[in-house]
Amino acid sequence: MTGMMQDWPLSVARIIDHAATYHPRREVVSLQCEGGVMRSDWGTVATRSRQLAAALVGLGMNAGDRVATLAWNTVRHVECLYGIGGMGGVAHTINPRLFEEQITYIANHAEDRVLLFDLTFVKLVERLAPGLKTIEHFVLLTDRAHMPESSLNLLCYEELLSAEDGTFAWVEMPETAPVGLCYTSGTTGNPKGVQYSHRSTVLHAMAACATDTFGIGAMTVVLPVAPMYHVNAWSMPYTAAMAGAKLVLGGPNFDAPTLQKLIIDEGVDLALAVPTIWLGMLQHLERHGGGLGRLNRTAIGGSAVPRSMIEAFDRLHGVRVMQLWGMTEMSPLGTVGAMTPEVAALPYDEALSVRVKQGRGVFGVEMKIVDDEGQELPRDGVTFGRLLVRGPWIVGRYFKGDGGDVLDAEGWFDTGDVATLDEQGYMQITDRSKDVIKSGGEWISSIELENEAVGCPGVAEAAVIGVAHPKWDERPLLIIVRKPGAAVSAADVLKHLEGRIAKWWTPDAVEFVDAIPHTATGKILKTALREQFRDYRLA
Ligand code: ADP
Repeated sequence: MTGMMQDWPLSVARIIDHAATYHPRREVVSLQCEGGVMRSDWGTVATRSRQLAAALVGLGMNAGDRVATLAWNTVRHVECLYGIGGMGGVAHTINPRLFEEQITYIANHAEDRVLLFDLTFVKLVERLAPGLKTIEHFVLLTDRAHMPESSLNLLCYEELLSAEDGTFAWVEMPETAPVGLCYTSGTTGNPKGVQYSHRSTVLHAMAACATDTFGIGAMTVVLPVAPMYHVNAWSMPYTAAMAGAKLVLGGPNFDAPTLQKLIIDEGVDLALAVPTIWLGMLQHLERHGGGLGRLNRTAIGGSAVPRSMIEAFDRLHGVRVMQLWGMTEMSPLGTVGAMTPEVAALPYDEALSVRVKQGRGVFGVEMKIVDDEGQELPRDGVTFGRLLVRGPWIVGRYFKGDGGDVLDAEGWFDTGDVATLDEQGYMQITDRSKDVIKSGGEWISSIELENEAVGCPGVAEAAVIGVAHPKWDERPLLIIVRKPGAAVSAADVLKHLEGRIAKWWTPDAVEFVDAIPHTATGKILKTALREQFRDYRLA
């Protein structure tokens, strides 16, 4: 027996059709690589996506083919997602911040047939082209007037589009067919591909719109600073279209003054970014003021959000921080720090202690924590263990089966994170399993130390790694970047930590550096720090 309702395969084409029918004139706006602003709307994006789909078919693309992008968050990049998906293709959004060898590796591994890229990357693509074994067409995302001289036979995006009339009929695909491909940044070993389906993408976007997730509707003006090459800008190109929100995109710009101006000029009320971006913005606001216009919510994820950041947004700017946790393998949404009546009733500081947690599971994400033997651990907010997840937008296996089976017998995926779960359903990441510091058989959370240290006046950024210790195996080393002009000392930082952390967690040493290295997705690059401090001896 089955239910007796219609079979209406979920697809990204249906999302853009909905936006074009119900929200045709809601704006999609981006800063351009050529300079200036491109103002479009969902109706126009839909038509141009059909033109692109037709052009890709004209270039010989078939359903299931991978079409790559190397592009910033722009209107044209959004058209690429829908145009590629709508002709049955798979949009492989390449992260331009990966090492060049990694870009070559993933483009070849994905067997991308077309590469659509921004003006910024012309030189990069010219360098990489000889190694890109499967790319047949290079399309520059610009108009004729901006086409540069190039050693490559470049196609012009706007010319391809203008040759088509926009009546292309979307290719009907089963909802389980692939539509997107993102590679993990591969800090160890080669990057692995996560291939999203139409179904997973639509379900994920629906969950992302919900009130206690991002709360996105037709009144929302959303700016994903998170790039589309990093898990589809946390699904905002899909979510905003589904909800009819105005979508604002920063193009190649990630600097605080440009983003501040964009937020104010476009009336952005919700912006999404990793903590590093907001760290820069808060420092900029501290020095230059100017406010954040209508912004009243930020969604911050990708790395832990320091307590001091939530407080600064609350107290200085009237902006509510929603922390989220997720990963490429999860499309990326796992948890969101939504409010509950219980937390809202707490005094501010106590509520803050809950809000620094990574949040509660949204419907569609099951979580549990287990010990090394796989035994489930209690949800008491204290016991921590390996965090496992399960759900319809979570990876089942990597592209081409890399890494073999990644699910256990009951279908759980090991996130590589170590976490606690509490009675209210809040999850808190203690560490990535490879970053946790093992001191005398007990675990110290590097993330918690970093969060507290960054709250110390004069500290711009903090990282904690374990260094070898003759008695305890490992002890924490705190590495600090000072704010410009600040004279904060090791003693100041250690004094600040007193009472905020368990005494035995106190770092054995503090080192000051000019900069901390980051991964292609903005996380602290602990492997590089461990290498840099490999021979470090604690006094
Ligand atoms: P990659 O950098 O390999 O692309 P992802 O962007 O998929 O990885 O990152 C996933 C990881 O980022 C998670 O497993 C977790 O360790 C970390 N992460 C994401 N959000 C948070 C958060 N809010 N707090 C702490 N860690 C987070």
